[in-house]
Formats: sequence, structure tokens, C-alpha cells
Amino acid sequence: MNYDTLFTQSIGRLKDAGNYREFTDLQRRAGNYPRAMNHSVGREITLWCSNDYLGMGQHPVIADAICTTVREIGAGAGGTRNIAGTSHPLVMLEDELAELHEKESALVFTSGYVANSTVLSTLGGLPDMVLFSDALNHASMIEGVRFGKCERHIFRHNDVEHLQELLASVDINRPKLIAFESVYSMDGDIGFIKEFCDLADQYNALTYLDEVHAVGLYGESGGGVAQREGLSDRIDVIQGTLGKAFGVVGGYIAASALLIDYIRCFGSGFIFTTAMPPATAAGALASVQHVKQDVQARIRLHRNVNVVKSRLTEAGLPVLPNPSHIVPVMVYDAKRCREASHLLLNKYDIFVQHINHPTVPVGTERLRITPTPLHTDEMIDYLIDALVSVFDELDLVRQPLGESAA
Ligand SMILES: *Cc1c(COP(=O)(O)O)cnc(C)c1O
Repeated sequence: MNYDTLFTQSIGRLKDAGNYREFTDLQRRAGNYPRAMNHSVGREITLWCSNDYLGMGQHPVIADAICTTVREIGAGAGGTRNIAGTSHPLVMLEDELAELHEKESALVFTSGYVANSTVLSTLGGLPDMVLFSDALNHASMIEGVRFGKCERHIFRHNDVEHLQELLASVDINRPKLIAFESVYSMDGDIGFIKEFCDLADQYNALTYLDEVHAVGLYGESGGGVAQREGLSDRIDVIQGTLGKAFGVVGGYIAASALLIDYIRCFGSGFIFTTAMPPATAAGALASVQHVKQDVQARIRLHRNVNVVKSRLTEAGLPVLPNPSHIVPVMVYDAKRCREASHLLLNKYDIFVQHINHPTVPVGTERLRITPTPLHTDEMIDYLIDALVSVFDELDLVRQPLGESAA
């Protein structure tokens, strides 16, 4: 058996489809975000596709908290929480996260991915459990639902009627859970949180909401879309990340003390891995505390998003309409999408990663733009001009879109 041939063939198929994954060698510049050094060509570029949505990753309060804690406590956690104890900054971080989401308790994981896969699979382990999962849920939720080894139903994306049909098909006395997201990160549309909560009440189900792309950005103190809509108390499990708007790394859930206790005791991906380092927890805590009160950053973010969206529309570029901070510019072709991204980077020093299959369905390839509060009006002007040039140079279709385009 020649394994190299097997690897090469699989990668070759990916390349033929235009979906080969490329990483750009970048070095961000603290104090100068969203500028970064592109090491491949040795030039500075402007980042337009990071999920560090508020630029918190470079914020001095985080850097200070991390550096101080490393010096005072040390680097690693020294083991799992069961074996080595819980470092105090992690306890403080969990208290802060519980408060942010108006829940009794919170539990931190090494990433948002691990939080989703662990919590959903562990809840799936409840006797007789049935999981209901939105068709466009993130890969980490899909993995959790699969690992749950219980009965599961996938409802069409954001389709309240379809979910109701599926719920009605299952014995009302069985335990159930409905898993969905608030902001869907590729189309930027928002889950029907209230409608799903109503169904959960009617069919006696738990609700599980992934707010990864919303925490820090929506709601009075950045508690997410559920906070903004006043629905936090109707969600049983709110899941979030510390790696996107909070600019550090790690994932968490916030829920009732009892549910948290269950996951703490049975969640394999929580129990059997070395805990988040104390300095990371301290950095994340500083970030959450800062972001909570930094209303101006949220205002500035949404202002920049609106400016970018309306300028793109004015320029006749196919921006997918949505009610969130995600700005998808549609290309509808894997290879041309990659070409557009390369041209933006190599000719205009703008980094917008192309998004191809399997992250999005074939034929819906796009450039996913994520404005931050730190992008200036000059950067926005330059982005729009560059995109117009790239669309013209590559002869891409320039036409504004209706609601149903993707
Ligand atoms: C990124 C992402 C995750 C995973 O979070 P990480 O902290 O990056 O592991 C979970 N859910 C959604 C919707 C995501 O986009």
C-alpha cells in the first residue's frame, strides 16, 4: 500500500475543485490592527476577514493581564481540573461568564469547538434523549450531535414548521433538545430564537444556542442576540467562544448550576484534557469585563458594517443582505473566488480569505468581509475601490442581490 499516493490523490481532487486550503503567513501588529505583515511577500496588508471582531486580540488590558499572570502564576494549568485543581483565574472567568448571560453557572472548555461537541454529545447521553439540530449548524455541533449516539433529527435551516413537524413526531414524554445558532457565520442570518423557544415550551424540550458569532457584539453588555432580544432566560444552554470577539481562545457554556454539574461530571471533552492556562483565563476575563462596558466599540462596529454594506451595494457588488455584522460578497465559483482573494492580497494588499466548500455549499463561494471598529473610513474607501477593480479584472458578475440569493 502506497500511502503517499492516497494522500496525494485526495489532495489532488481538492485542488481540481479549487478547494485546496491555503494559509497566509501573517503577523498582526499590536497597536496597528487591522494592519498586518504579510510574510509571503514582505509587505503590510489590511486584514478584512478576521473573527477578532473588535480587535480585542491586541488590546493592552488583555496583554497586561496575560503577561502579569504568566509571571505570577506560571504558564500551563498542570493537568485536568480533576487532577490538578482549578486555577483561580478560571473560577473568576466562569463567574463573569455566568453573569454576562444571566445564568447561575458557566463552564469553560479549551475551545468553542470542544464546548459544542462535548456538551451536545453529553446531553445526548441522557436516557432516551432526542436531539433536533438546525441543518446549517456549525461542524462542532454536528459532531456533538453525532457523538451523542441518540436519536436525532435535522430540521431545515431556520424552518420553524419543519422543526414543529419533527417535534410532533416524537413521544412528548421523551427528553428533547433543540440546537441552533444566533448569528450564522457564513450568510450572516439570525436564528429564530423566540419561535424555537416557543416550540421548546410546547414540546417540553431544552434549548441550546450557539452565540459564538454574537457574544461581545450584540446586547447591552455584549451578552449576544439572546440578551438583545430579552430571551436569555428562555435558553437552557448558551454557548460561546473566547476566541472571536473576546480576542483570546477558549469556549464555554452558561446554564443552570445543575446542568453545568452534569456536564462537569460526564463530559469527556471537559474532564480528560488539560485545563485552560491561568494566563489565558485572566486574559479572557479582562476582555469580557472590558467588552461588557465598551458600548462605543459595538456602536462603531455596527456603524462600520453599515457603511461597508451600503457602499458595496452602491458600487453594484453582490453583497448578501442580512441583519448582522457579516458581509458576504458572492462569487459563486470556487476557482474564481480564490483568484479574487489572491488578486486582492497580491495587488491591493487587502486580505479577504475566499470561503469555499465544505465551509459553504458548492456554487455559493464568497468573500467574507468582517469590518471592525478599528477600520478607518480611508480603509473602507480603499476596500470598495479594490473590490470593484477585482470584479472588473476577473469579469465577475456585478449585480445587487435579493433576499433569497444564497
Ligand atoms: C468558530 C465556531 C465555533 C468554534 O469556536 P472556537 O472557539 O473557534 O473553537 C463554534 N460555533 C461556531 C458557529 C463557530 O463559527
